[in-house]
Amino acid sequence: MPTLNKLEPGVMFWAERDSVSEIRSLGVRSGQLAIPGTMALTEAAAAAWKAELEREEFTLVTVFATYEGEDYADIPTVQRTVGFIPAGTRAARERRTYEVSDFAARLGVASIACHVGFVPENHSDADYLAVRDLVRRVCDHAAGHGQTFALETGQERAEVLLAFIGEVERPNLRINFDPANLILYGSDEPITALRELAPLVISVHAKDGDWPPKDVAGALGKERPLGQGSVGIPQFVRTLKEVGYQGTLNVERETDDQTTRLQDIAEGVRLLKKLCLS
Ligand code: MG
Repeated sequence: MPTLNKLEPGVMFWAERDSVSEIRSLGVRSGQLAIPGTMALTEAAAAAWKAELEREEFTLVTVFATYEGEDYADIPTVQRTVGFIPAGTRAARERRTYEVSDFAARLGVASIACHVGFVPENHSDADYLAVRDLVRRVCDHAAGHGQTFALETGQERAEVLLAFIGEVERPNLRINFDPANLILYGSDEPITALRELAPLVISVHAKDGDWPPKDVAGALGKERPLGQGSVGIPQFVRTLKEVGYQGTLNVERETDDQTTRLQDIAEGVRLLKKLCLS
C-alpha cells in the first residue's frame, strides 16, 4: 500500500453503500470505512474487502462501528439511541465493537472508531461509569490487535471529552475530530476545540455545517457541502497545519441522495487539495 501524505484528502464511506473503485474515482487513495450495524462480519466478508482494497491500492486508515437502532433525527433522539449510552443495547453494542475491531484487524487497519453517544457531565452518574468501563474494555480489545480506538467528536464540549478520556486512562484511546459535529450539536467552537484536543487527534473528518436554529428546542444544525457551512474550512486546514496534525482529511457528506453526495465529496476533495497546497 502507498504511504499517505500528511493532510492528504481521503473519504469517509460506507460498506454496502459505496464501492472502493467508486470512492477512488473521486480523486483519493485512502479513506475510512463505516460498517452498518446489520452487516455480517464474516471471514468471507473480510477476505472480499481485503482483496478489493489491494486491487484498488486503497488504504483504510480507520474502520468505524455504527450500531443497529441509531437515529440522528434530533438531539433527544441521539441521546436516546446513539452509541454506548442507551443501557438496553449496551452489551450488544460492546460485542459488536469487538467484532468490528476483529474485522478491521483482518483488513490490517490500525484504528477503529465510533460515536459513543452523549457522555454525561456528572462523573458519578451510573451511565458515565458504565460507559467509562466499557470504553476501557474496548481499548484493551483493540490494543490486542495493535489498534487505537478513536471517539468521534461532536456531542459534548472539548473539555468534557478530555475529562472522560483522562478517566478512561488507556494509552490507545484517541479522537476522530469532526469539526461540523461540534456546530451541528451546538456544543463547541471547532477551531478552539481542535487546539484543545490536538494531541489526541488521530484522524479527521472534513465535514461542514451550520449551527442549530435558536428557536427550535433540541434541533440539530444543518450539514452542508464542504466549504459551504460555518466551520471555516480554510481556517480549519490552517489550524491542522499549525498544531502539527500528521494524518489525512476524510471528506464526509451525509445527504441520502447518492449522486449529490458523491458529487459533493469530489468537490470537497478538490477544495482540500487546493487548500493543502496553499
Ligand atoms: Mg463524522
